[in-house]
Amino acid sequence: MTVFVLATHNAHKVEELRRILGERLGPHELVAYDGPEPVEDGDTFEANALIKARAAFAHTGLPAIADDSGIAVRALGGAPGIHSARYAGTRDDADNYRLLLANLQGATDRAAEFVCAAALVDGERELTVRGSWPGDVLDAPRGDHGFGYDPVFRPAGLEISSAELTADQKNATSHRARAFGELVVHIRELYG
Ligand code: IMP
Repeated sequence: MTVFVLATHNAHKVEELRRILGERLGPHELVAYDGPEPVEDGDTFEANALIKARAAFAHTGLPAIADDSGIAVRALGGAPGIHSARYAGTRDDADNYRLLLANLQGATDRAAEFVCAAALVDGERELTVRGSWPGDVLDAPRGDHGFGYDPVFRPAGLEISSAELTADQKNATSHRARAFGELVVHIRELYG
């Protein structure tokens, strides 16, 4: 049995990841990281996930798992991308999605994807995997589940926003579910 440290301070993400990883982690356990947060100055989702995982590993000595995620909007050249959490400058979810709606006002191409890079750093190896969840940006917010840009994101094939999905529905298909579903396969291969 191995204890992994989960390098995120975002309570919503901790909850989502616990649910996603749950039984698939087998005998292993997850503890939340509460040490110092590193500066996320990478220029890709993968680079930032590795920065967070390295910091948690360095601080705890435990194999560390981290993610970095965001929404990439095609008509905005992939913005806000790695800057999603601080797009509006306030770190407030509603400010961020309102700015996104304002920047897409009148746009006919509203294609977007949520992206999640997940990283594992354990002193012997560093690996990353990526999950993506395609869809488009709605004209106005809907729903009150989830967090971040969920109220303005309509997953491909659905007529509702990701904030109108239940946690279980979101966790079955989201970018984070896809990335961590793949990461957990590596973990089971490496750690049993
Ligand atoms: P991170 O904590 O650096 O990975 O930043 C992620 C940011 O991307 C969040 O603050 C949200 O704004 C956005 N984001 C990532 N995943 C989701 C999601 O599942 N739903 C809504 N917004 C998300």
